[in-house]
Amino acid sequence: MSVLGLPRPAWMSEDLVMLEEQAERLLAAELVPQIERWHDAGIMDRSAWTVLGEAGLLCAGIPEEYGGAGGSFAHETVINLAFARAGLDAIGAPLHSGIVAPYILRYGTQEQKRRWLPKLATGELIGAIAMSEPGAGSDLQGVKATAKKSGNGYVLNGSKTFITNGQHANLIIVVAKTDPAAGAKGISLLVVETDDAAGFRRGRKLKKLGMDWADTSELFFEEVALPAEALLGAQEGQGFIQLMSDLPQERLIVATAAIGMIERALRLTIAYVKERKAFGQAILDFQNTQFTLAECKSEATIGRVFHDHCVERHIAGGLDTATASMAKYWLSDLQNKIVDRCLQLFGGYGYMDEYPISRMYRDARVQRIYAGTNEIMKLVIARSL
Ligand SMILES: Cc1cc2nc3c(=O)[nH]c(=O)nc-3n(C[C@H](O)[C@H](O)[C@H](O)COP(=O)(O)OP(=O)(O)OC[C@H]3O[C@@H](n4cnc5c(N)ncnc54)[C@H](O)[C@@H]3O)c2cc1C
Repeated sequence: MSVLGLPRPAWMSEDLVMLEEQAERLLAAELVPQIERWHDAGIMDRSAWTVLGEAGLLCAGIPEEYGGAGGSFAHETVINLAFARAGLDAIGAPLHSGIVAPYILRYGTQEQKRRWLPKLATGELIGAIAMSEPGAGSDLQGVKATAKKSGNGYVLNGSKTFITNGQHANLIIVVAKTDPAAGAKGISLLVVETDDAAGFRRGRKLKKLGMDWADTSELFFEEVALPAEALLGAQEGQGFIQLMSDLPQERLIVATAAIGMIERALRLTIAYVKERKAFGQAILDFQNTQFTLAECKSEATIGRVFHDHCVERHIAGGLDTATASMAKYWLSDLQNKIVDRCLQLFGGYGYMDEYPISRMYRDARVQRIYAGTNEIMKLVIARSL
């Protein structure tokens, strides 16, 4: 039972309860014990992807005929909540399974789906999506990467930055202009299999404020020759529309991570304030602590109910971009606020790296920036006024 004590949400069927237990067990046994080592090394192990693949925790929402578990976004959500609650904040698997694989499923040709999806499900291929560039983040129409027609295929040039899974990814969806004169209509998505791609180079694993072991990186493409089949879908110029149509899911994934981390922060903090003593009583006995946590629990409960409402609508196919943007912006803001208030209740220990709340504080910050900044979320919401 979650720390919020809410009844099981309507979208969570019996098989999902079993999946939740299975995911929690697997993560606790196989991945959580590695976190300290990954933290010290500044990068997670490549082998963790295979562990997740073997356990059926990658591509749970992809149909069985393409190697997935044949579930829905509900399955992905259960797994993503388990990652967040286990302290695997920095893992790129939600992006791999919930963003990269669905792009291929929705827009790929039959041949592309058969070629890439089964390997993404086992972890043999690790997915990334390379949109952001040094000069273009929020304004994706400004990307400079180009994919010029050459013979039957394309030649890709450009540099990308801040790319999640950047050191380990070997299947990268690159946003590039196939017609630089055509604005948004000239943008296409090109799928690059990097293992034998001459001209492809990984840059630095970037040092960050938080998410220490995530392999967020720069990527460089210099005259990379791609076959015609690297174009995602059958037609050039569809990239911007493809990106826009998948935004609700991407934003909801961030919202799910936010509520999962909020629940973890509350669980850890409640346990701590019951144990820690000052002035002859438990920290929880101070009215300030009770009121702070009462407020946090109330807001977290409101957030969780809204999150579940969005998940239910998305599974039914009816989640609009504005509502998904509300979930991303509001829950990531709430995450930052609650984690900060929880950290305060740990006193000096809350500032120490070995206390998870301190890492959660650092990890939380980027949730307001990536997958579209919270300012961009408000722009999208404002368009619905
Ligand atoms: C850890 C991490 C992982 C990431 N993973 C990926 C990834 O896997 N793939 C990928 O492609 N990208 C990734 N990103 C990039 C991320 O999506 C971008 O950083 C984000 O979209 C913002 O773009 P920017 O950094 O260029 O900021 P800018 O667009 O330069 O924005 C700077 C500031 O201006 C504000 N601003 C911009 N436009 C407006 C406007 N119209 N109105 C009001 N305010 C505005 C922004 O909100 C922000 O506060 C990642 C980033 C981080 C930090």
